[in-house]
Amino acid sequence: MTKKVKIGNIYIGGGEKIAIQSMSVHKISDHKKSIEECLRVKDAGCDIMRFSVCDEKDASSFAIVKKESGLPLVADIHFDYKLALKSIDGGADKIRINPGNIGGENNVKEVALALRNAKIPVRVGSNTGSIDKEFLNKYGKNEISLGESALKNVALLEKYGVEDIVISVKASSVPLMIKAYEYLAKRTNYPLHLGVTEAGTEYSGIIKNSIGIGALLSRGIGDTLRVSLSADVEREVIAAKTILSALELKDDCVSVVACPTCGRCQWDCMNFAKKVTEKVEKINKNFKIAVMGCAVNGPGEASDADLGVAGTGDGDCVIFVKGKIVKKVKREELDEIFFGEIDKCLL
Ligand code: SF4
Repeated sequence: MTKKVKIGNIYIGGGEKIAIQSMSVHKISDHKKSIEECLRVKDAGCDIMRFSVCDEKDASSFAIVKKESGLPLVADIHFDYKLALKSIDGGADKIRINPGNIGGENNVKEVALALRNAKIPVRVGSNTGSIDKEFLNKYGKNEISLGESALKNVALLEKYGVEDIVISVKASSVPLMIKAYEYLAKRTNYPLHLGVTEAGTEYSGIIKNSIGIGALLSRGIGDTLRVSLSADVEREVIAAKTILSALELKDDCVSVVACPTCGRCQWDCMNFAKKVTEKVEKINKNFKIAVMGCAVNGPGEASDADLGVAGTGDGDCVIFVKGKIVKKVKREELDEIFFGEIDKCLL
């Protein structure tokens, strides 16, 4: 089991639930936009939000955004170790640094001291663009050089007494990312932050993240994750929830099952399934909805759904509960009646 690490008011690692993270597209010094965005992703199921720190105004903004949003916040710093110190002073719940690019070991030592005083954790690691030259020359670009680079950063922080560490080894290649996390999981018990870097736009990005993150989680590897997408932050959070729910690692999600339809389907089942999904994807409750093409097989195929709908041969629909048909409705009445049923059950 991995070590348990506290980030604001939540824990990651040590058997805690897998925490969902996202990263803001705003400067945190724009407090209004940052708070609005945090509240929006929190509502969608996000547990931790990360912000880039580009200047002193950013570094001193964590306390106010944290207070107004209630989300644990991570400060992401590159190059300037003083911004790391200021972010820690400014109320960040965790920082993410690359010890190799903050100007030498003395600076790492100062940051380590500040982390210990504030009792907050740090994420370090490596990605394919930041592999330590020593390991790159020795092993080439592979899981060993990625893993060893991350462990070297960990050792440097440990040297200065930091104990609460989270590690990541990201790559845009899914097979490489999987092998690198497996390499790390055998060599450390610090919690692991999973992610596929530069995964792409929503459709292909979700596929890559689901394969990489899903493969690792299904083997018991990973304590927190970010689904990085070139898409709205809310889409990242919903994708993360869906991955966790599909692996039965998260049960406070509404899942929508829908049949692929076939020649028996006589209504616009696919569009209706899309509308149902859009309505419920941000709701954090354990509930299963089925949208099925026909009444011949639909209710039986989805007999474990809490609520369902299936088309009939004449183009109308039946509503069913736990596989039992309870009501027949005209197609033109379905939206109002079915969404009303969802509201009754979930809101
Ligand atoms: Fe075809 Fe009916 Fe099964 Fe959907 S539920 S795939 S329409 S048989």
